[in-house]
Amino acid sequence: MSDMSNVLRNIPSVHELLESPPLKRAVERVSHNVVVGRVRTFLDQLRADMQNRAVDLHVPAPAELAERIAQWILQQEQPRLRPVINATGILLHTGLGRAPLAEEAVYAIRDLCQGYCSLEVDLESGERSQRTLAVERQLTRLTGAEAALVVNNNAAATMLALAALAAGREVIVSRGELVEIGGNYRLPDVMQTSGARLREVGTTNKTRREDYARAISPETGALLKVHTSNYRITGFTESTPLAELVALGREHRLPVIDDIGSGALMDLRRFGIEGEPLAAESIQTGADLVLFSGDKLLGGPQCGILVGRANLIDTIRRHPLMRAMRVDKLTLAALTATLHLYRDPAVAEQRVPLLSLLATPLENLRQRAERLAPQVAATPPVRSATPVEDTSLLGGGSVPEQQQPTWCIALEPEQESVSTLAQRLRLGTPAVMGRIQHDRLLLDLRTVFPAQDTQLVTAFERLEGPKPRPATAAGH
Ligand SMILES: *Cc1c(COP(=O)(O)O)cnc(C)c1O
Repeated sequence: MSDMSNVLRNIPSVHELLESPPLKRAVERVSHNVVVGRVRTFLDQLRADMQNRAVDLHVPAPAELAERIAQWILQQEQPRLRPVINATGILLHTGLGRAPLAEEAVYAIRDLCQGYCSLEVDLESGERSQRTLAVERQLTRLTGAEAALVVNNNAAATMLALAALAAGREVIVSRGELVEIGGNYRLPDVMQTSGARLREVGTTNKTRREDYARAISPETGALLKVHTSNYRITGFTESTPLAELVALGREHRLPVIDDIGSGALMDLRRFGIEGEPLAAESIQTGADLVLFSGDKLLGGPQCGILVGRANLIDTIRRHPLMRAMRVDKLTLAALTATLHLYRDPAVAEQRVPLLSLLATPLENLRQRAERLAPQVAATPPVRSATPVEDTSLLGGGSVPEQQQPTWCIALEPEQESVSTLAQRLRLGTPAVMGRIQHDRLLLDLRTVFPAQDTQLVTAFERLEGPKPRPATAAGH
């Protein structure tokens, strides 16, 4: 027991520690109060760990202790939400925030939201106006629809549309289209919450027009088609084309709702993206309501977009849930600016980051991989770095089947495991996320902006060489 109190007495005081150069620097960078609080927490934890014998009964020299505490404080100061260089090759990575915004969209947020803006005022008349008016005009122009509406995301769009158009009635959906999109979006649950009743028809792999036709009754409120964004049923399959559903809907005076998921506004086939429905095509085929996300292939901010017949959009707009799902001015600013770029597809391809990444020629990726590999290989944690050709998956939960040729840098760590190096990179400055494949760490350049190439090398240069992780007290 006296042994223990001797050891504990060796721990320097908060006051002493604050006099040390590393903690003085921390005070300058953070603040006096925060540093004092953090030093106390650290020392309390160290004492507790020692009493529980969770760490060696050895107090580091004051200088070393101060250095350790200062590092811990600076680490704690890093926000959890911070920029990441996406070297996973997954263009629409929900974990990494899906679509990056165009510069124009970022400027628009700053420009419109730093001060006041004409969110709900018609500047010509001075009267109150609807906040989504401008963006709705852009959307109808781009899709050929009569009317449009914007809400928080596609899940909200679906729930709102079903609640407004089919609450208390049946909505007919093919069994093969009852999707779950990552996390907690499951179509049957969304439907239930909306108050509409799910009427499944067909089988998992085959649903024909007659299956829908037989299910139609006075109870029916709508026919719903859902794009199977994150899976494909292949083999012995049959699904009813939208045109046939539209004909059936017209015959029975039922609205046909088409949830197209990713919502491409331009044809992406020349980038190797197949089978993604275009909003304009769906409208042209006759869908009464088309739903899609703003932050998937459109490349804008998170939002859900509804386009279609004016009378349906009007009914939806007046539903009480609309107020709970309406978008804020930041989203509207970013969406308007992004849609503006689509007036000219060539401009969109250059200025919408998602499209410019998709459009990057393979040869460009190869040259960058060859230039960067030796620079990365020259940093302490890396034993070897080799340019390799590979395929990237475009979407986490968005367009998963879609693959694109790409070039990566394949890394072998000097000493540590691949997963340890990957973790250190995630926690580095800037943070980098790659993908682990066959016990190598791949940095996929498909999703790295050319302007980030230098930062990518910097991230490696800032990592120290491999060394065993010190068992620090309060290291959590
Ligand atoms: C992604 C997706 C959703 C969910 O959209 P969020 O904007 O993430 O809410 C719904 N339906 C389909 C078909 C999708 O692909």
